[in-house]
Amino acid sequence: MKKTYFLILLLLSPVLLFAWGQKGHRIVAQIAYDNLTQYAQQQVDSLLSEKGIIWLANWPDEIRSDTVYPSSHDWHYQDLPAHLTEQQLFSTLTQYPSHGGNLWRALDSLNVCLHTNPLQKDALVFLIHLIGDSFCPMHLGHEDDLGGNKVKTRWFDSPANLHKIWDEHLIESQGYSYTEYAQYLQIKYIDEKETITNASKQDLVLQTYLLTQDIYTYQQTFDNNTYYYIYRWRNPMERQLYTAGIRLAALLNEIYKYNE
Ligand SMILES: [Zn+2]
Repeated sequence: MKKTYFLILLLLSPVLLFAWGQKGHRIVAQIAYDNLTQYAQQQVDSLLSEKGIIWLANWPDEIRSDTVYPSSHDWHYQDLPAHLTEQQLFSTLTQYPSHGGNLWRALDSLNVCLHTNPLQKDALVFLIHLIGDSFCPMHLGHEDDLGGNKVKTRWFDSPANLHKIWDEHLIESQGYSYTEYAQYLQIKYIDEKETITNASKQDLVLQTYLLTQDIYTYQQTFDNNTYYYIYRWRNPMERQLYTAGIRLAALLNEIYKYNE
């Protein structure tokens, strides 16, 4: 009986993998925190405790199997087919697909929720987390391979899958703590901050979608040279983390805007 239970867990496990990994979400939250206005930082701190934006950034993944928010399980991803035109892609932002995840719908609802009542703590924590997920390329992956979970590959000498490479391995390959990484990215990409802050939602979705397609294409020729993989994909991965942090800061600065 125990053995069967374990087997079921094992079979289910690929779908239960977290987005960005814990470190990725903390990097995004730290970058966002550093870019909040003083007023927004005070508001977010008073709701979630000091720097709670970071401590709670992974909570929505932790409760994914809990009964508190059972419908939240599919808020973390938006599977998309390959070769969508820009127009087809943008229509999924407003006419949400009926299956393959609910990320866009969840983000829009949370945004409305928080603009109506900025004191909704759980909505705020979900927004912090899901903005991170929305910039994680394999969370816009293909439905038939579960966002890359079923694309088997290798990471150095160990078996891996495409989702997990983008979830964790690439980030961990740099050996930074989340605070070091957040600091480093804010120096590296400072010149892009204004462009990202002012970019449209469509532009940013397109950026992530095109990256996801490039990753799938490259995978077809990947020869398991992990060092080269890191060299090839490190910059795109880091840009996604930075963009997510700045985008989250912009959204929170708008929600927690000081009104005289
Ligand atoms: Zn997630």
